[in-house]
This record gives sequence, structure tokens and C-alpha cells, in this order.
Amino acid sequence: MKIDFANLQLQYQTYKENIHRNIQAVLDKSNYILGEEVQKLEEELQKFTGAKYAITCSSGTDALLLALMAIDIQSGDEIITTPFTWISTGEMIALLKAKPVFVDIETDTYNIDANLIEKAITKKTKAIMPVSLYGQPADIDVIKDIANKYNLKVIIDGAQSFGSTYNGKMDSNLGDISTTSFFPSKPLGCYGDGGAVFTNNEEYAKKIKSLRVHGQNKRYHHQYIGIGGRLDTLQAAILLAKLPNFKKELKDRQKVADQYTEKLSKTFQTPIIKANRTSAWAQYTIRVKNRDNLQLNLKEKGIPTSVFYPVPLNLQECFKYLKSKYGDFPISDQASREVLSLPMNSFLKKEEVDFVFRSIDKINS
Ligand SMILES: *Cc1c(COP(=O)(O)O)cnc(C)c1O
Repeated sequence: MKIDFANLQLQYQTYKENIHRNIQAVLDKSNYILGEEVQKLEEELQKFTGAKYAITCSSGTDALLLALMAIDIQSGDEIITTPFTWISTGEMIALLKAKPVFVDIETDTYNIDANLIEKAITKKTKAIMPVSLYGQPADIDVIKDIANKYNLKVIIDGAQSFGSTYNGKMDSNLGDISTTSFFPSKPLGCYGDGGAVFTNNEEYAKKIKSLRVHGQNKRYHHQYIGIGGRLDTLQAAILLAKLPNFKKELKDRQKVADQYTEKLSKTFQTPIIKANRTSAWAQYTIRVKNRDNLQLNLKEKGIPTSVFYPVPLNLQECFKYLKSKYGDFPISDQASREVLSLPMNSFLKKEEVDFVFRSIDKINS
């Protein structure tokens, strides 16, 4: 048996007819840039998330950049975030010459430890940027209370968590601004790069729409320094073909997660989803002491696994100037040594999940 980590080929085969029809419609109209499919997708995303404004863009990374630019982050501003994330989170802060201020994570959810945030606030702090890692939102109520107390904005990096909830509210509808990514292997992926920014604030929405097209407010008139950050109409067409199936995909991912947890929770620390939250299950991640050994053995059996992430942001060469060292964020350091993500997608069959579990059991005994 050969297991596929994300099953993008099977996903395409499943939705082929609708995807081809939608792509063909764009080709027939040649409306490649901000065509009506983009508008339609944004309406559907608003309906799906409950957010008043959904603005699609060129990637999850650009979504973060647009969000930070919308709240007018300037050189020298500080943004509190997690070191245990994909590079984009800290990178976009640094790109604007602001400073990422890292605080450690929780051992169970791998998300920013909300109880450590207040200590990291200074006069320069402008925003808190939690990441909904592996698909589960951080403790947003606590984070929002702190933000309100110190008059800070909350930007949620929801690149991995589209469709997840906190107290019944969608992840995309939790922050002052929330973002997501449509990178192919994310829970809702397109077939190239794509992303979206969500907000309930009309002023931010207007500004983000303008920033997305070089700060233009009317043609050839540029109010802001912006970026070329549009989502291709073709990608919007593909997402429109996939979105109607997404609720079912989330349920299927939950089923796969439940199967893994049932089998693995006796031996490993399996994912812990808090009672007031649901996960979009971007990843199913366990903790393993002898990770390299298990990973290698699984690979030999045809089971791909991944490590998200082997090096926390504070220890990356590009952030050397922050002068952070190993041990500054011990929970994050430990997670980077121990986490292992197993194949996770809505197309995994029960036999395949069983095969993964049995293989791990055999290697482990
Ligand atoms: C994937 C990811 C991003 C970036 O998304 P892209 O669409 O690849 O630019 C940002 N943050 C996190 C946490 C991610 O996982």
C-alpha cells in the first residue's frame, strides 16, 4: 500500500467535471484578472464564514502582508506572535520593518500561550498575531481581552484553519482581521497560490481592496503604496467548484482524526482539541521521542510524514538579529524536536488509516 499525504490527485479526479466546467467558462470569457468568479467567490466566502468582508488575494503570505498594512504597521512597531509557525507569520512582520516579538506556545494545542502575552507588551506593541496551528484556533477570548485592555489589534493567521470554529464562530470571523491560504495542500486549496483576508470592518475592507491593486482607489490614481496581490480568476473558478463540498471534507477529516486518535492515543500524545473549538485538521500531529527513526521506517513502508516545524522562527538565520537563542521558548523548542504529522486528507480510506496505525505499532514494538 502507498499512502498519499494530501491526495491532491484523487481530489482533482473527484471534482473534475465541475472544475473543468468552471475553468472552461473563464477561458471562454478570458476574464483572467478580477473576473466575476472572484467576486462570486468572495460572496460565497462571506456566506461560509459569516465575516462581513472577504477579500481574496494572491497567497496566504500576501494576506498577512495586506492585513498588517491595513492596520498601518510601521517600522519599529512590535507584533506579538508565536515562534512555532511557518515562516510567513514572522516574515511579513519583518518585511514591514516591524519587530516580531515571540512568546512561547502551549504544550497541548501548539498555539501561542495567551497567558504569556501580557508580559511581552511594550509601548511599541501594535498587534497580537496568533496562528491557528494545525487547524485549531488559539484561545481567542483571552487574547481579545488582552488586546482590548491595551488597545491592540488582533490579526489571526488562519492559513491552516479555514472552516475551524471557536465557540461556534468561524476562525475567519474571529480577529479584527483574519487571513487564510488556498495553497493546494491547505484544508481548502486551489491549484496554485491563493489566499484571503476577512474582516467585519468596512474601513479595513476598503483599504485591503485598494492595497491589493497597488493602492489604487480609481484607475491610475494610487492612494497607498500597495502590492500586486490579486487572486487569479482561474483559481477563483477552481475554488468555486470545490467550496460546495468543503463542509463534507471537514467532516471526513474529523473522521480520519478520530480514527487515528482512537488507535494512537495510548502510545503517543495525540492532538488535543479544546471543548469550545473545532479543527480544520490541516495536520494530524503526534509527539514522538525517536522521531527520525519512526519517520524513516514509515517512509520505507510507503507512508509519508512531515515535520511542521523542525526550526522555530526565533532560531532561523533570517531572525539572527533578534538575538534569540535555543531555550528562550522551551515548549516551542521541544515541539520542534518531537512533532510528526501523519497523512491527513478527506480522501483517506479507513484501510489506509489502519495501515498507518499498524505500521507505527510494528515499528514501535
Ligand atoms: C501556509 C501558511 C502560510 C502561507 O500561505 P501561502 O499561501 O503559502 O503563502 C502562512 N502561515 C501559515 C501558518 C501557513 O501554514
